[in-house]
Amino acid sequence: MACHPVYSVAIPVYNEQDNLPELFRRLSATLAALDGDYEVIFIDDGSRDRSLSILREFYQRDRRWRYLSLARNFGHQIAVTAGLNYIRGKAIIVMDADLQDPPELIPDLIQRWQQGYQIVYAQRISRQKEGWFKRVTAYAFYRLLRHLTDVDIPPDTGDFCLMDRQITDILNSMPERNRYIRGLRAWVGFQQTSVPFSRDPRFAGQVKYTFGKSLGLAVDGVISLSQVPLRLATYLGLLAAAIAVLMVFLVLYWRLFYPNSPLIGYTTITIAIFFIGAVQLVCLGILGEYIGRIYEEVKGRPLYTVKEMSDVGTD
Ligand code: UDP
Ligand code: MG
Repeated sequence: MACHPVYSVAIPVYNEQDNLPELFRRLSATLAALDGDYEVIFIDDGSRDRSLSILREFYQRDRRWRYLSLARNFGHQIAVTAGLNYIRGKAIIVMDADLQDPPELIPDLIQRWQQGYQIVYAQRISRQKEGWFKRVTAYAFYRLLRHLTDVDIPPDTGDFCLMDRQITDILNSMPERNRYIRGLRAWVGFQQTSVPFSRDPRFAGQVKYTFGKSLGLAVDGVISLSQVPLRLATYLGLLAAAIAVLMVFLVLYWRLFYPNSPLIGYTTITIAIFFIGAVQLVCLGILGEYIGRIYEEVKGRPLYTVKEMSDVGTD
């Protein structure tokens, strides 16, 4: 394997045993028709089912189907990061293992890359097959992110995309642990474009992103790209101060003109205490989100640990 392939496909895998054979079938049909050499690199993200042994079989069958097995579950974004560290192609495709990202779209992505675009997003045109809750929250999140950050993440794009080597080299040089790949990818700039596709339902198996994980990813996305929440804390503080000044006048007014009014006294004090308490806790929470991340970054641990690789030392 002296020569590096033109195309690399990086696929994170977490308990996808029932999807892998079908993925192999559809993806190899698509890749065989390409005009250049290819490699596939699976990143086993600490799967507990038969995924890893299936990946070993793929590699036995065809040396272009490589794999990397992380020592535990590190999460989707880190798994993709690990894949990007090990791929060798000139055009890199990132896609999911559950066939929600149709392999048949790859030639379209490549066509745009050949036209000179460094990043080609696959952009969902319909989410009909996903539940209404996911659709509404995803819609709201992408719009919110657009308002909160300077980088323009195209709405309805996931991780499915093609990137030029130049882009993955930059991503690989970014040391941060808090990796929201969609955001980092949009942040780098260059010529970006999108190709529309309709996202299929999962072929088999369970969705790995629970609501909690999705919310976590959303918070990561906002915080890694934006400092607006910090400013929000300042604004909240200012608002509380303004209300306090207003209250001073109101209370004085009541004291002077309605000395027996039940409005002053316990009611006012109780409300004021809760209000100030709430504002302070919210602001502390926002600060905490950033400080926690600073702590994570400062520790400087490796992003992941690898327990097994298909081919050692060919990098
Ligand atoms: N995945 C992973 N590690 C995780 C969770 C998910 O590598 O901790 C992989 C998973 O195997 C799949 C992709 O990331 O290939 C997307 O996961 P999923 O389909 O559950 O998410 P969704 O399609 O809802 O975004
Ligand atoms: Mg999926």
